[in-house]
Amino acid sequence: MAKKPSQKWKLYEVKDGKVTRKNRFCPRCGPGVFMANHKDRWTCGRCGYTEWKK
Ligand SMILES: [Zn+2]
Repeated sequence: MAKKPSQKWKLYEVKDGKVTRKNRFCPRCGPGVFMANHKDRWTCGRCGYTEWKK
């Protein structure tokens, strides 16, 4: 069985030679824990932290 390739690249986007993060880190869990990008909010699947978009 082939090993699944890393999916980390999906979280990054290259624009004009600069790498920008698509997702945000959870302020509670710290770097490494990404928050899910919803239409009107960011949520952390680990601690449940929610940040509403303005
Ligand atoms: Zn969290």
